[in-house]
Amino acid sequence: MANKNRTLIKLKCSACEAINYYYWKKKGAEYKLNLKKYCSNCRKHTQHKEFRK
Ligand SMILES: [Zn+2]
Repeated sequence: MANKNRTLIKLKCSACEAINYYYWKKKGAEYKLNLKKYCSNCRKHTQHKEFRK
């Protein structure tokens, strides 16, 4: 089902650039995500930045 009010963004590891997480975000939201999450590629917690498209 299409979700018109939300957009899918990806969270990319800032160390190795692997895309590890997907996240639905409301359209029009100005904030940018920058979360510390576990990266299975790095095998440790790293900063994950939002990445569109
Ligand atoms: Zn990584």
